Amino acid sequence: MSKQDYYELLGVEKGASGDDIKKAYRKLAMQFHPDRNPGNADAEQKFKEINEAYDVLKDEQKRAAYDRFGHAAFEQGGGGGGFGGGGFGGFGGGGFSDIFDEMFGEFMGGGRRGQASGRGADLRYNMDISLEDAFAGKSATIKVPSSAPCEDCKGTGGKDGAAPVTCTGCNGHGKVRQQQGFFTIERTCPTCQGMGKIIKDPCRSCGGSGRTRKEKTLSVNIPAGVEDGTRIRLAGEGEAGMRGAPSGDLYIFLSIAAHRIFQRDGANIFCRVPIPMTTAALGGTIEVPTIDGSKAKVTIPEGTQSGNQFRLKNKGMSVLRSPARGDMFIQAVVETPVNLTKRQKELLTEFNAAGEGEKAKNSPESQGFFAKVKELWEDLKEG
Ligand SMILES: [Zn+2]
Ligand SMILES: [Zn+2]
Repeated sequence: MSKQDYYELLGVEKGASGDDIKKAYRKLAMQFHPDRNPGNADAEQKFKEINEAYDVLKDEQKRAAYDRFGHAAFEQGGGGGGFGGGGFGGFGGGGFSDIFDEMFGEFMGGGRRGQASGRGADLRYNMDISLEDAFAGKSATIKVPSSAPCEDCKGTGGKDGAAPVTCTGCNGHGKVRQQQGFFTIERTCPTCQGMGKIIKDPCRSCGGSGRTRKEKTLSVNIPAGVEDGTRIRLAGEGEAGMRGAPSGDLYIFLSIAAHRIFQRDGANIFCRVPIPMTTAALGGTIEVPTIDGSKAKVTIPEGTQSGNQFRLKNKGMSVLRSPARGDMFIQAVVETPVNLTKRQKELLTEFNAAGEGEKAKNSPESQGFFAKVKELWEDLKEG
């Protein structure tokens, strides 16, 4: 399936300004918004495409990549495509976060599941990893505060493992009825808290809950290619259930810390690399670090400008459950030399003098710009 050009999609010129792109996007987004076109699959598709186009063209780096490589700039190495979630950046911080700052049960929504059955609560564990870890994958050992079935009562909550007996307050229903005027109100039995059973002689170690606090050590396997916000579920590793009921699950939420030099977009990696002015002018080779910890050589052609992009195939991120790798995009930032010696200044002055008459050839961009400025002034004079 060939994709439509992003500029065409938004109906703007290739050189359109960011503002014009935004305006065009807004207009189209209003027109094709699903709320305005209920049940219209074509409009919905168009809306998606407009958004995808705008997502790229509003971002200077992505736009530069698109201008140079077209849609190929955003194709993922292996299966599955398009823009993943997460996007650029990530959360700051490094190392492990406060491990237990976000421990709460039933955060997954869907009501108070498991409450009546005594199923253990789900636990959440926040883990910060580096982009390198996300690339290579890692196995980590974590300590999770948890409750485990009490060893003294084998989780029954009764002394010496005595089984609970049917609650007399509700006859085991877990609910009691109360007459109030004409109404009958049903509420949770206060004697057994809805369990339907009570412990006559509670276990001393756990006070009858059948659980004890315990810290457990788990090893977690983080696969290569995970995204920021990926959730890993460890079934049955959450809180122990009440009196032998099933345990909840443990969810590990991954945050990928922002990298000092790399920016990730799905399977691709972007990197801005300063290039000495002379290398940019004469051409040469530079070495850049890659996410796998090695280096890659990049050939810088003669006359490279700031903002030019170079693609290093298969030097990007790993792709989840796939041997493929994304690409790396290098954006050149030409560095003007500073702290020149007297001799260097002389040479540059000489360089300049030697270029007299070659300006249009040497610096077509600035020459073109000043020609436009001149026209502008002339137009103003006439008007
Ligand atoms: Zn106990
Ligand atoms: Zn009861």
